[in-house]
Amino acid sequence: MRIDLLPAEGTFYKANLHAHSTESDGRLTPAELKEAYKAHGYSVLSCTDHEFLLAHHELTDPEFLMMTGFEMSFSEEQRTYRRETKCCHICFVALDEKNDVQPCFHRTKYLEPEKIARVHFDPAEPDFEREYTPECINEAIRIGREKGFFVTYNHPVWSLERYPEYSRYKGMHAMEICNYSSVVSGYDEYNPRVYEDFLHLGQRIFVQGTDDNHNRQQPDHPKWDSFGAFTMIRAPRLDYASIAAALRAGHFYASQGPEITALWIEDGLLHVECSPAVRVYCITGARRSKAGYGENGGMATRAEFRIDPDDEYFRISVQDEQGLRADSNAYFTDEIFG
Ligand SMILES: [Zn+2]
Ligand SMILES: [Zn+2]
Repeated sequence: MRIDLLPAEGTFYKANLHAHSTESDGRLTPAELKEAYKAHGYSVLSCTDHEFLLAHHELTDPEFLMMTGFEMSFSEEQRTYRRETKCCHICFVALDEKNDVQPCFHRTKYLEPEKIARVHFDPAEPDFEREYTPECINEAIRIGREKGFFVTYNHPVWSLERYPEYSRYKGMHAMEICNYSSVVSGYDEYNPRVYEDFLHLGQRIFVQGTDDNHNRQQPDHPKWDSFGAFTMIRAPRLDYASIAAALRAGHFYASQGPEITALWIEDGLLHVECSPAVRVYCITGARRSKAGYGENGGMATRAEFRIDPDDEYFRISVQDEQGLRADSNAYFTDEIFG
């Protein structure tokens, strides 16, 4: 029996679900971001401006989808990022096109008055008071999910969060395995070990690649922070409901460049098809990880791995000649084999 881990039918849509526009501290307007991303082969963008949920449906067209989102931050110190200040940033992306009501809102804090006047919030909800504690962060994650948002834990390296902090966060849909803005700034924000930690803690979450772009440099500058990390979403068509359903189902992978074009299991054998790779990792979190290579020293465009039902999970990472990676979500053998 064949089990498709990425859907066999449909199209891969290139997405950046973490971006900043002139509605917060980004340099490009939402319309300029849409044009830039569309011109680079993207189909999906969410302007997740800081603390500011705004729908941009007027920019959606038949070949490009804008998803509604915002980024919420929790910090040890209010609005200051000193040398050693830890913080936690979380992106919320609405899973329903009609949802533009900001969860965990505060009527006076965290946002300038002219923006507070533009936010949609539920007047029946009390102000959400923030503290940099796992309890408060987990409550925001819970509320975000309850209100119909896809919730992603962002850039642990830039945030100076380490195991003692992030190991206490629970219930998000996904984490950023790569945040490109952090990378070009000099933070080593490729986070497979953080993902492994979450998986070992029993957090069955997905991975995303995002730019978190602010576009403060010109496109030819090495610190230009667009088009370096992305999420490939496999869906039957490009509309809000189909992309949201694919996000919920985990029908996507994260990448800095390489592609995973097919991923399925047949008779206990995992099959990977990908863009040319120097190595294909099958990572199990136990001493059962494996590597696939091309024939005769050439590049691999496919690999097969025998999956042991005793392994709790496996995930695929494809490495290209430049060292860039594409990372699948983790798949759990108890869900696959029953
Ligand atoms: Zn952030
Ligand atoms: Zn951000």
